[in-house]
Amino acid sequence: MSDTFTALVLRETDDGQVGALEQLTDADLPDGDVTVAVEYSSLNYKDGLALAGKNRIVRSYPMVPGIDLTGTVIASDSPNWKVGDAIISTSFGVGERYWGGFTQRQRLQSEWLVRRPESMDALSAMAIGTAGLTAMMCVMELEIAGVQPSDGPVVVTGAAGGVGSFAVSLLAGLGFDVTAVTGRPETHDYLRGLGASAFLSREEMSEPPRPLESETWAGAIDTVGSTMLAKVLAQMKFRSAVAACGLAGGADLPTSVMPFIIRAVRLQGVEAVTAPIPLREAAWARLATDMPASVIDAVTEVVPLTELLDRGLAILDGQVRGRWVVDPSI
Ligand code: NDP
Repeated sequence: MSDTFTALVLRETDDGQVGALEQLTDADLPDGDVTVAVEYSSLNYKDGLALAGKNRIVRSYPMVPGIDLTGTVIASDSPNWKVGDAIISTSFGVGERYWGGFTQRQRLQSEWLVRRPESMDALSAMAIGTAGLTAMMCVMELEIAGVQPSDGPVVVTGAAGGVGSFAVSLLAGLGFDVTAVTGRPETHDYLRGLGASAFLSREEMSEPPRPLESETWAGAIDTVGSTMLAKVLAQMKFRSAVAACGLAGGADLPTSVMPFIIRAVRLQGVEAVTAPIPLREAAWARLATDMPASVIDAVTEVVPLTELLDRGLAILDGQVRGRWVVDPSI
């Protein structure tokens, strides 16, 4: 193994943040008890913000961004991990407070790591990444709430985004009749391929709702928040459930108590950033069995480390359909 490796490093200068590919050695890596040869990372919206130096995502410099990574353990001081183990790391501040995945090698804390399921290859794990993990956790919350395909149609907002695409696919795979809300009509064929059977426009779902509207949805996964989540809540059936995980449309929630007190709607928050390891392991195990390879192929585009600075800006412009997996070897 070479002494040096390539990493994308963000540094703070008098003129602001600059990013560049650098050659590093193990001595440059942060403290941690497990060192990993990174096979793949992925580009999330949060990574776009980090690369653009926005929203104070990067908490300290220098920083190697990349909130998701998968790879193989090459050195370990932890009794729980040995050389050769395949790991997944998502969140826990990696790529924000701690160095992340846009590198060929990284050192991490053992307690952040999840074992990659045996039947899941590295590319699939990063195609899924935080987005797929979040979607799976949303699906599991709907299951806990007792939502079943026979209860009626379900709706996914922000459907053509990373979390939304996986939510559509997972729900359709479980037999649900899925309506996709998207602001991009050109993604309808793509979403139909993932299993969506009907579409609503972002525009119509962004109209401020009446306190209660016609009972339509047995379940919902919302990645948008704000007025769209309020609209979804107003359209939920009696004793139905909404899993809310995102704020792509805003962090406010202009709703009333009516869906909760008249229709007994359950609003369940989903948080994948510091979710406990047993919950992550359960979700990854489900992803290994429930996420078809054909879907992973359909949503995935592999991008080289060298293109990340440009691509990061594109994700902030909403130009991404599905998932960009980062190959650090090219
Ligand atoms: P993406 O950017 O891939 O997708 C977001 C989608 O939301 C877009 O593709 C678009 O869908 C829709 N959208 C964007 N802007 C607006 C708007 N102004 N109004 C309505 N819809 C809009 O992001 P991700 O899928 O990765 O993440 C989705 C959300 O979930 C984000 O807010 C993210 O921060 C959050 N998240 C939360 C996690 C948690 O732990 N709770 C973990 C991961 C993500 P379309 O083009 O179909 O209209």
